[in-house]
Parts: sequence; C-alpha cells; structure tokens
Amino acid sequence: LCGGTGCDATGSEKVRVALQSEIEKQGLSDEVEIIITGCNGFCAVGPVMVVQPEGIFYQRIQPEDAAEIVESHFLKGTPVKKLLYKNPATKKYIPKMEDIPFFSSQVFRAMHNKGLIDPEKIDEYIARDGYFGAAKALTEMTPDDIVQEMLDSGLRGRGGAGFPAGLKWRFAQQAQGDVKYVLCNADEGDPGAFMDRSILESDPHSVLEGMIIAAKAINSHKGYIYCRSEYPLAVKRLGIAIEQAREYGLLGSDILGSGFDFDVEIYQGAGAFVCGEETALMRSIEGKRGMPVPRPPFPAHKGLWAKPTILNNVETLSNVAQIMLNGGKWYAGVGTESSKGTKVFALSGDVCNIGLVEVPMGTTLRTLVYDIGGGVPDKRKFKAVQLGGPSGGCVPEQYLDTPIDYEEITKVGAIMGSGGAIVMDNTTCMVDMARYFMDFIQDESCGKCTPCREGTKRILTILEDMCKGKGKPGDIEQLEELSEVVKHASLCGLGQTAPNPVLSTLRYFRDEYEAHIYDKT
Ligand code: SF4
Repeated sequence: LCGGTGCDATGSEKVRVALQSEIEKQGLSDEVEIIITGCNGFCAVGPVMVVQPEGIFYQRIQPEDAAEIVESHFLKGTPVKKLLYKNPATKKYIPKMEDIPFFSSQVFRAMHNKGLIDPEKIDEYIARDGYFGAAKALTEMTPDDIVQEMLDSGLRGRGGAGFPAGLKWRFAQQAQGDVKYVLCNADEGDPGAFMDRSILESDPHSVLEGMIIAAKAINSHKGYIYCRSEYPLAVKRLGIAIEQAREYGLLGSDILGSGFDFDVEIYQGAGAFVCGEETALMRSIEGKRGMPVPRPPFPAHKGLWAKPTILNNVETLSNVAQIMLNGGKWYAGVGTESSKGTKVFALSGDVCNIGLVEVPMGTTLRTLVYDIGGGVPDKRKFKAVQLGGPSGGCVPEQYLDTPIDYEEITKVGAIMGSGGAIVMDNTTCMVDMARYFMDFIQDESCGKCTPCREGTKRILTILEDMCKGKGKPGDIEQLEELSEVVKHASLCGLGQTAPNPVLSTLRYFRDEYEAHIYDKT
C-alpha cells in the first residue's frame, strides 16, 4: 500500500487501518501482510495498492472498500473489478500493474525498489541486493576501480547540469587533502518537482549506499545530506535509515570489516531555492548565509570548509550501487550516445496521469506526455511542456518527438533540469506562465549580484503589466535585452538561467506577447 506523500494525502493511512482490521476479522493475519511502501508513482489515482505476488493494481481505494477486497480477492481469489485501472481508450480493465500503459514504457533503475519495500526496514532493502554494491566497492574494489565504473556508466549528474559524475569523482579523488566531504543535494526546490523527495521517501538506503561508495572513491570519512525541511517524511525516513545502517555496521567505523570509516549527517535547509546551488549549499552547511560564490575554485578542490568535496543529487546517488553491482557498461546499455541510463520525471500540470515516472534516455517527449501521461484531459489540446522548472524552458507541439537527451533538449530551447515536466494545454496563457516563473525566481534571487537582483525584478514588472493589459510597444524588445543581460552577467546558475521561461516562450509564442500589447479587445 503506497504511503508516499501523494497517497498519504488522499487517505492511504485510513485504508491501511480498515484493511488491517478486515484481515484480522477474517483470520488472515498469518497469510496477508500490509507493507507500507514509498511512492508508487501513479499519484493521480491514489491511494494505490499492489497485491503481490500477482501484481494486481488497485486504485482510488477507500476505507469502505476494505471488506470487499479481503473477501473477494484475499479469500476467493477474485480481484475487485471496480477498483482496477480502466483504460480510457479501450474501456477495458487492466488488472496487472505491468500492463497499465502508465507503467509499461518505464524502466526502473533509480526507482528500482519503488513500491516493493518498506523504506523503514533495512532488511527489506538488503533482501533486494541492498548494500551489496557498497560491500563490493569496500572489499573488492580500489578507488580507481570505482571511479572507472562510474566513468564507464556515463552517468551524468541528475540535478540539472548533467556533468559526468565519474569525472567529478575523479577530480575530488585526485585533489590533495586529508579531509574530504561527500554531500547529497536533497534541496529540490523547483515548482512541480518531487523526484528526489519520492526517492528519499521510498528508498533512503539507496542514497546512503551511493554516498558510502562515493566516500570510498575519494577517501572521505564524512558526508552530509542537505534536505529541505519542507520534506518531513523524507527527513524522518532518512533519519531511520541512518540509524539502521549504523546498527548494521554499514555506517561508522570499520564498515563491514573493511577498515573504512564513514558517517553521514542530515542538515535541514530552510527552503531557499538558491541553496540548491552547490556553493550556496556548502555555505549554508558551514552556518553562513546561503549565497553562491564564484567558481573556480571548484568544490572538487575547495568545497565545504575549503576541503575537496563532491556533491551529487539524490537521483544520481540512487543509481550508484547498481552501477557497482552490475557494472558501468550495464548502466550505459540504455540511453543515447551522450545521455546514458534513465531519467526520473515528475509529470504534472494538464495531463491525465500525474505522477512520478522513470524512462530510458532517448524516449521521446511524446511518449512521456501521451503514452505514459495519457495526454491532455477534457478533450483540450496540448500546447507545451515546461521542462526544468523555473530555470527551464517550454517545448511546443512541433518538438514533441525530441528524444530525452541533455543536448537534444537544449537544442529546442529547454533544459533537462532536475526532472520537472509541467504539461500545459491550450487554455494556458504563455505570458502568464512566464510571469509565474519569473515571480518565483525574483523572489528566490539571493540579491548578491545586481543583474539578477534588479534584472529579474524589471522583467517581472513588464510581465505583470502585460498580464494586466498595460503592455506597451517596446516591451518585448526590452524583455529580450534584459534577458540577455541577466543571462550573461549573473554570478550563479539561478540568475544565468532565470530568463529561460521568457526567452523560450518568446521563441515559440511571440504572437501571445504581441496580443498582450496590441490586441486590447
Ligand atoms: Fe544570487 Fe542571483 Fe547572483 Fe545567483 S545570480 S548569486 S541567485 S543574485
């Protein structure tokens, strides 16, 4: 039974209580066990439950359905039809999860334990090969072997920039210093993004295991997970996972008898978007105000407390253990020439199947929006998909066949970002959409440098005036000029990408901007 934040919000705990009571009433306690898992992914139809081992998927369960599920399915072996997924196109019921179109095109790697384990029980993680990757790395591999597997995997940082993770590890490995740090960036802050939260809620040990392996690669003995305090369930489960890992000798001194020491601490951020930027994140852990600083020096040489540091996000780290177990070449077996493996997306907005999805790189945006997402609801038309959150850009209909690949997505004016994918239908005003993202960005600008601090404010004022019908000739040109200045003169990635929503909507929907100025009807 899904106990992720989405299903929790739609009442999965009440369903659990009702089911448990019915199981006991029918004397099935020895035969049926309810396991509360992290996010199943199909958030649109929660609360959801999968009955194993058959894999029967139930959606929108209410506590009053409990008696029927227990009697019909658990006692008589007949699934309850009204709670099964019904294909909107064929009107046929699809009992098995793997046959539902939302799941059938997905490939689970970062989320390979999703919906299968209780995230609060380390034994269930270990039963799915958990900590075998760390054991191999600590007892059979040299730091060079580990870095080589990461390079072979082609895994690029999933936080947005797409820098090769193995290369980052190599730089930190080669950097001089007795003290080094491994950091996990769990400060996901894009509106519409919930990939990292869901992974932490579903499978916190996979992130810890990735950090242990990274630590061995660069000879670090201390790690921090920087997680926003708005993610209370993720913080709670991470805390439980760290305690359990210590009890099992997987964190602390002499891990698994290998002689290697490493421990992890959670640092809760206060929700500043800019603290997702690596240098600001490190200043925040140091107890300073979370503001970016210029690079170089890069964190691999001078990071946290000026020591060599590697910082990877949650999704990146959750892939590492499987790379060690199965090999880098196995990981690189799916994907495109330059973008290997899979990518997790938080699919939301005007799309039927809102949820968390993981697809091989190279999958087209059309597959993401239509085959997995089920298209736009209420017979409205697709207009664009915003990728990469407030720093990203929108991709219109004519580019829906673009493959999910760092370079291909950049060519059409968006960025991969961390994985937010917000679908917009034909009722969306693109100027208003740009205004929304710019409002967020200017509010989150740390104010350190003038182009970002003042430029985003000026862009927002123009967009607000346009949306109020007060647009005037020359506004579009001024937006373009300001956007170029903010993009090129800002200090950090937040400012450098801040104008993207304006530039990408101007590129594809300029007529809407013109209508806001000239069409006063
Ligand atoms: Fe702060 Fe913006 Fe400058 Fe980044 S670009 S340092 S967020 S003011």
